[in-house]
Amino acid sequence: MKKFISVCFLLCILFIQHTALAETVYFNLQSLKYHKLNCAYAKKCTKNCVKIEKQEAKSKGGVPCKVCGG
Ligand SMILES: [Zn+2]
Repeated sequence: MKKFISVCFLLCILFIQHTALAETVYFNLQSLKYHKLNCAYAKKCTKNCVKIEKQEAKSKGGVPCKVCGG
């Protein structure tokens, strides 16, 4: 039982680290702004937006949305 708990704990840490490193955002190719997936503007943006990792959006010159903070 103890082992089971420590494995769960380890998986939990890995999951948190993974989500922190690879955050997916909606990147607007026209305005070069990136949004959180739950941002109202991201939901409106269907034509010029692509779903990419935040790091990738930044490397393409992306700036965070003022509403959701990216
Ligand atoms: Zn936004």
